[in-house]
Amino acid sequence: MKRLLSGETKVVGVFGFPVRHSLSPAMHNAAFQDLGLDFVYVPFNVHPDNLEAAVQGVRALQLVGVNVTIPHKESVIRFLDWVSPEAQQISSVNTIHNSEGLLKGYSTDGQGFMESLGPMAAEIRGKKCVVLGAGGSARAIVHALAIRGSEVTVANRTLSRAVEIVETLSKLLGNRSIRAVQIESKEAREAVAEANLLVNCTSVGMFPHIDEQPIPSEWMHKDLLVYDLIYNPIETKLLQAARETGCKVMNGVLMLVHQGAISFRIWTGIEPPIKVMEEAVLAGLQRMP
Ligand code: NAP
Repeated sequence: MKRLLSGETKVVGVFGFPVRHSLSPAMHNAAFQDLGLDFVYVPFNVHPDNLEAAVQGVRALQLVGVNVTIPHKESVIRFLDWVSPEAQQISSVNTIHNSEGLLKGYSTDGQGFMESLGPMAAEIRGKKCVVLGAGGSARAIVHALAIRGSEVTVANRTLSRAVEIVETLSKLLGNRSIRAVQIESKEAREAVAEANLLVNCTSVGMFPHIDEQPIPSEWMHKDLLVYDLIYNPIETKLLQAARETGCKVMNGVLMLVHQGAISFRIWTGIEPPIKVMEEAVLAGLQRMP
């Protein structure tokens, strides 16, 4: 059924650059339609030079809120009135809520990752985890795992970036078990051998470089849950190798859905239809190259 926009329609959206390939509009609009909510989600291509004006526009245009994606997640913080403690700790905001003119910033990536694990999230405490990568998503996931009492090894190509995450979070969170290693190293191999959870937060294996994988297949073992944040392709080379090794595997679709679901709750106060959102993402992926 076609939706009619009116003066009553509430507007949310996403600021990114580029934003053309975002799956969030399809995911959120499917949820609004399913619940019959008079909301619309719009992609906004915001050049970094225009970010401050765009954030002011959230107030001026009375948008309910926006998601913020690459490259704005860190730079947007200085334009907000309030930032959640978690978003401050990882220096990243992916959701803005316009609360009667007060712009509040949140990060839903870490919690979205944990919610996507479902019942397995309860088993994380005290478990050994290896996070590959030291970019924005790695920072959110290392934080989410560390505050839940996991032992985390951060393995990155550029060791200094992994060290920076470990030093910052260790200082902020107190005496947690987080350490940094180089990704192509004996230490990384040993950490994977002892781990229960391996999370790929690098972009290695993402379309169009689908023949690449961040670590050798032989490092993995059947007691490992291998979670790849990448969702294009749905099964990366890493996940294919993990499945053949007998590991449990997860791709990035559910994290995308759950981080979006948390934004949806922040904006509407309503529980979103997770399955509808997941189906919209999967349909959107089929339309991608
Ligand atoms: P980012 O900040 O750009 O970080 C990229 C990471 O990948 C860095 O650690 C980088 O290492 C590493 N890397 C890139 N090319 C490499 C190579 N050839 N060999 C080894 N390491 C390499 O990216 P991000 O925002 O964290 O995103 C990472 C991935 O997660 C992307 O594929 C993104 O699509 C996905 N993601 C998914 C979700 C979801 O909801 N499912 C959410 C966020 C992100 P260096 O530090 O050495 O450069």
